[in-house]
Order: sequence, then structure tokens, then C-alpha cells
Amino acid sequence: MQLDLNSVKPTSQATRLFLADKDKKMLLHNDWVNAQNGAVIDTQDPATGEVLATIPQSSIEDVNAAVASARSAFKIGVWNGMVPSERAKILWRIGELIDANIDELAELETLDQGKPIGVARWAEIPGAAEQFRYFAGMCSKLESAVIPSSIAYQPAGKRVHSYTLTEPVGVVAAITPWNSPLILTAMKLAPALCVGCSVVLKPAEDTSLTALRLGELCVQAGLPPGVLNIVTGYGHIAGQALAEHMDVDKISFTGSTQTGRKILDAAKGNLKRVTLELGGKSPMIVMDDADLELAIPGVANAAFFNGGQVCVAGTRLYVQENIADALYTGIAKYAKSLSMGHGLDPVTQMGPLVNRIQADKVFNYIQGGSADGAHILTGGQQGGPNNTFIQPTVLTQCTQQMKIMKEEVFGPVLSCMTFRSTEEALALANDSDYGLAASVWTQNLSHAHRFASDLESGTVWINSHLMYDPSLPIGGYKQSGWGRESGMGAVMNYMETKTVCAIL
Ligand code: NAD
Repeated sequence: MQLDLNSVKPTSQATRLFLADKDKKMLLHNDWVNAQNGAVIDTQDPATGEVLATIPQSSIEDVNAAVASARSAFKIGVWNGMVPSERAKILWRIGELIDANIDELAELETLDQGKPIGVARWAEIPGAAEQFRYFAGMCSKLESAVIPSSIAYQPAGKRVHSYTLTEPVGVVAAITPWNSPLILTAMKLAPALCVGCSVVLKPAEDTSLTALRLGELCVQAGLPPGVLNIVTGYGHIAGQALAEHMDVDKISFTGSTQTGRKILDAAKGNLKRVTLELGGKSPMIVMDDADLELAIPGVANAAFFNGGQVCVAGTRLYVQENIADALYTGIAKYAKSLSMGHGLDPVTQMGPLVNRIQADKVFNYIQGGSADGAHILTGGQQGGPNNTFIQPTVLTQCTQQMKIMKEEVFGPVLSCMTFRSTEEALALANDSDYGLAASVWTQNLSHAHRFASDLESGTVWINSHLMYDPSLPIGGYKQSGWGRESGMGAVMNYMETKTVCAIL
């Protein structure tokens, strides 16, 4: 695999300034601090292996300090006691500051994670800003209800007056993964802050840079001390300590299903509230009446966008038998046309995977699929100076029992098989432990909406895949998670409902 990675450098002066200070600190009570024991983790450019900076490696003591800070802010009511419209102004300002610093944030995300600059600059960073604006608008619209009695049990001559109060749950631990760091962080911070919670954020150890820059912007926007604390470090140390912490009221976790189970175990000590946004193995069903001019790029993009490191990526393709050849040919052509390189190069359409471990894992899945009898139609190679690049890969002749059809690969790999009838397609698509997203490609509206109803999936797209909007709930059926993020309902992830019942 021939790749020229040396000629690209950040163009934004702000990015260069941020990276000129190599010893990054984390946010504690609006101060920037090292880990108490001074330990650090190198954060690398995955394309080249170059060390970009070091981040603090938090220990349990650092987590304790962050939780104490968040608790003290919550207790004194500096944020949850603020007039909602004032909270809204600060959230809105955070969105505006993200926009104002968009080139820097996009370059940092690309350097730290590897993604093409176009993905960061035009999709993910603006998407993060929109999360803050969407939930800014909700601060002043958090209403409760007056509830009429349905049983006449009040003492004679008296009346019952019942109503609910919705209150912030308290201290939230937000734990995020490495694939789309800033936008996934915003999906937690914006609704949690909207309702008045204090937050301790633990970004992924490989990709903490934009979270730290966002912390600076939050302070600049006027977020009071303690309302947002950021602890960087390893999941099994800092993440685990947060998940177990007896003074954390709620964990909002996005990551793998495997870690999600550990979170549940860790949360049981004080029965924390838990929401889980986990893995997926999303099916795409292409019927023989589909518009192939739409379906070919749509399906391929669903598999290869962000190098396939997307929880809702389309990874299982079920195509009606009589159009399989045409669809496979089109997808293979699209895959071969993708230009691979350093994410900062504006022509790059696919960058590296986040690290060598992930690239090796994906390569092993491809090899395993081939050994199990799948045909590598295109791609299949690993390379680059840091061995982090994987070619966009299409596997045909897959069967439902193969590991490559069952397990989440989290790389640019599309596994394909054929079906004859709609019933068969539905059964194959639903035959999965996961249920995060699905798409159906057809011009028959009746088929489309029947699939939408019958697919066991948190999101179903029709003639599209990967459409994102802060107003649309996202989350999983089955082992893809608990709860939904985005959309108006997301605020309830961070609230308790109190019932008040009075005899008047
Ligand atoms: P991961 O589960 O390895 O890590 C996620 C986060 O959890 C990281 O911050 C990590 O440090 C932390 N962590 C790890 N072990 C922990 C522990 N024992 N206790 C507490 N925290 C711990 O996931 P990843 O590899 O970073 O991300 C990829 C996964 O995330 C994929 O499975 C993908 O599908 C999933 N994901 C889901 C969504 C969604 O919305 N459903 C979105 C993006 C990614």
C-alpha cells in the first residue's frame, strides 16, 4: 500500500499553538492540572505514530477530586440553581465557540483520531455545536405536569392536588469512545448541562485532545467551576473508578458492548442510573427494485465512512439475489475509488484506523472471514508506516454463521450475502445480538414501512443510511444499549421525576 503521509501539516495557527504545549492538563474546578502522581499517556497521530502530546493519566485520587468538585458545584446550586435562560445562554455560547474554533477543532480531531478532515470539519464538529444549540433551546422548556386523580379517595370536603417535579439527577459520569470523540461528548454534555447536572467527563485515552479543548471553550463560555471536570486516562483505571464511585449518581456511557457490561457491574454499588450506547452490526437490505444509483454510493458510504469506525455503520449487506452482481460491482468500484492517506490531506476519503491494535483486529477479522469461506472481492490489505491503514474491503459469499457476519468489526469491512424473499431478508437482518440501526433500499413504500416496523433496531433508514440530527433519538435495541441520546427525550436521561401529592 503506497501512501505519502509526510507532506501534510495543520494549516490553522491555533492548532499549531495548541500542540506547541505538549504537556496537556485536565480540568479540575476550572483549573488545568496534572495527574496527582504526575503520570502521563502519549497521544499519537495514528497515521504516522508521531507523538502529538501527553495527557494526564488519572488515578483513583484524581477521579475522587473531580467527583468532589462536581458534587460541591451541585450542592451549592451554582448551575442547577441558575435561571434556565441563563444556562441556555452559556450552552448557546459553547455552540458558538465551537463554530468559531471549528478549523482548529477539526484539525485536532483528525490528527488525534485519523479521520478525514472533511468528516471532522463538515460533519462532526458542526454536529457537536448543534447539540449545544439544540439543548440550549430546551433549558427553558423543561416542564412538569399537574396530574388529575383517577381514584376518588380524598377526605370529604378536601381536594387532591398532584403534580410532578423534574429535577437534575446530580453528578453525571460521561464516558466516551474514540471513534467520533467531540460529537459523542457533546451528545452527553449538552443534555446533562441543560437540565442542571454537574459532569465528570472521561474521554477515550487515544483521543482526548478535542475534549480538553472543549473544556477550555466551556470555561470561556462562562460555565462555573466544578460543573464540568475532565479526567483523562485509561478506562480500566479512571473509567472504572468513575463507574464505581459512590458519589456519582448517573453514568452515561458510549463504547463497546463488552465494556458496557463492566459498567453495569461497576454501577451496582449505589445503583447508579445508567444509559448505554453500545456496539452494532447494522444490516442493510437492498431489494431488487432499489434505485441503484442511490443504493450503491449509499451502501458503500455506510460501510466506509470514517473508516467504518461508526457505531451505526452498515456492515451486513443483504441483497436480493437477482441484482447482487450489479450491486457488488458498483460497491467494489466505489471502494477502489476511495483515496487513502493522511486525514489532514484534503483529498483523503479514508484515513487510518485509530491505532495499530484496532487495525490488527480488523485485519484478523478479514483473514478469518476469508478462512471461513468468504470471497474478498476488493481490499483486504493492511499497511502504512504505522500499519494502521486497512483498505476498504468487500467480502461476498458470506453466510449468516460466519464471525464476520455476527461480530462488530469496527473497520472498513462490508460483509455481503444474498436473499430471495422479503421474509428471508427480515429474518436474516433480525438474527443478531445487536439492534442499533438498519436501512432498507427499495422504491416500494409498502415494503419500506413494513421493514421499518418489523426490524428490531433503534433506527431504520429508508433509502439512506447514517443520517444524523440532534433532534432524532438514537440508541439500541437488544445488546446495542439502554436508552436514547439526542432528541427531546434525552434530557430525561439526566433527570429524576418527583411526585408531589397534597390534600388541599
Ligand atoms: P470501549 O468500550 O473500549 O471504550 C469506551 C470508553 O470506555 C473509553 O473512554 C474507555 O477508556 C472506557 N473504558 C474502558 N474500560 C472501562 C471500564 N472497565 N470502566 C469504565 N470505562 C472503561 O470502546 P471504544 O473501543 O473506545 O469504542 C468503540 C465502541 O464504541 C464500538 O463498540 C462502537 O460501536 C461503540 N460506539 C457506540 C455508539 C452508540 O451510540 N451506540 C457510538 C460510538 C461508538
